[in-house]
Amino acid sequence: MVADPFGPQVEADVLVAGAGIAGLAAAMVLGRQLPQASIGLLEQAEAFSEVGAGIQLGPNAVRVLYDWGLQEALHQVAAFPLLLLARDARSGSEKGRLRLGERALQRYRTPYATIHRADLHQLLLAQVRAQGIDGHLRQVLTHVELSDRGVRVGTQSGTRSGTQWQAQALVACDGVWSRVHRTLWEQPEAAFSGHLAYRGMVRMSALPSDLRRSEVVAWLGHDMHAVHYPVCAGDWLNVVVVVHGDVPAEAVGWDHVAAADALKQRLGPIARDLHRVLEAVAQWRLWPLFGRPPVRKPGDLVRGPVALMGDAGHPMRPYLAQGAAMALEDAWTLGRLLEQDAALSGGWPALLDRWARLRWKRCGWVQARSQRNGTIFHAAGPLKWGRDAAMAVLGERLMDVPRLYQGPPEPG
Ligand SMILES: Cc1cc2nc3c(=O)[nH]c(=O)nc-3n(C[C@H](O)[C@H](O)[C@H](O)COP(=O)(O)OP(=O)(O)OC[C@H]3O[C@@H](n4cnc5c(N)ncnc54)[C@H](O)[C@@H]3O)c2cc1C
Repeated sequence: MVADPFGPQVEADVLVAGAGIAGLAAAMVLGRQLPQASIGLLEQAEAFSEVGAGIQLGPNAVRVLYDWGLQEALHQVAAFPLLLLARDARSGSEKGRLRLGERALQRYRTPYATIHRADLHQLLLAQVRAQGIDGHLRQVLTHVELSDRGVRVGTQSGTRSGTQWQAQALVACDGVWSRVHRTLWEQPEAAFSGHLAYRGMVRMSALPSDLRRSEVVAWLGHDMHAVHYPVCAGDWLNVVVVVHGDVPAEAVGWDHVAAADALKQRLGPIARDLHRVLEAVAQWRLWPLFGRPPVRKPGDLVRGPVALMGDAGHPMRPYLAQGAAMALEDAWTLGRLLEQDAALSGGWPALLDRWARLRWKRCGWVQARSQRNGTIFHAAGPLKWGRDAAMAVLGERLMDVPRLYQGPPEPG
């Protein structure tokens, strides 16, 4: 082993790296199932927070939140759209619709929700705090290696000397550019997909009244699509526009202020209603979308006492709106396994191996399907014709995804 470059040493039973949605959900579950264990949550940021944008939560994700007893908290902040509407981005014509609301409840027993990320983040953070878990901010994970006793992690905090952490297991939730994945799996960094997501928010009250609707609207166009839906209990509309293009030269990192003009130029002519929604957005932010190929085996998600959860393990394009949902399912499955075997009879590697066997296929399938959706959404020519014809004939049967929305399988 290389000479130890780190300063103080800290022991924990389990470490969680990254306090995004995946890390908070995993930490919460660990705290609930292993109340005697010391759990260290390491986050590089100055504060526990999420970016200002929305996410959709399919019935599978909502089921997980209900199962964790968060139904009431969710209902205070989320919106519950009645309809998912697909429209042509240029002509505005309707291509298909999927009833959500009551129909989702009847079919899946949980509704389809849309929520501001910060609200979901806060909701999970409150649970983590309720478990008395130690959250360590300004801890940039720079080093990770397997050790006789589990795993050693090194973090740096500003200019101060680093800290070395020793634990029996590490749940790595450090996002799409996961340092843990790069180091232990010796894989290259996530690659730019060629797609750019422009995001904005607008107060519902600032919209013309005919646009204030409880709907998820997906506008499909050539090499672009746009999606908008209510968040913050219906007070705000979240808007995302995805276009093809290169990362602007000035954009370093992954969340940038973006110029509306640049977006307009990329879009060309669009339907009047879509134009009115986009005009109402006061400020845009730009996210270049990065990703990795779908996972192909359990070993892509687990190595000994280290598991990759959320985007660290299975980053995906946002075209099925399931990245955060899969992160919640990851944590839920971990919780179920710990419920069955709180004594960790076979040790952490055995438990995490079981976890990965339960997760890899579903995550890989969702990653692949998300990517395919991008091709279908942005289609032109014969593919577009086929898509529109299939939507017209199959309607809801094409837009619904029972295998997904039924939720993660119960561990046997
Ligand atoms: C445009 C867009 C729309 C989307 N829409 C949806 C949707 O509708 N529904 C849905 O379910 N999903 C959606 N997603 C996907 C979803 O946002 C992600 O899958 C989810 O946020 C991943 O959460 P995470 O916790 O795994 O990663 P992240 O949110 O990236 O969190 C990683 C955390 O780890 C920390 N970290 C990183 N590196 C280190 C380090 N070295 N040391 C310490 N800490 C570190 C980061 O600071 C961060 O807090 C969308 C994504 C995009 C881009």
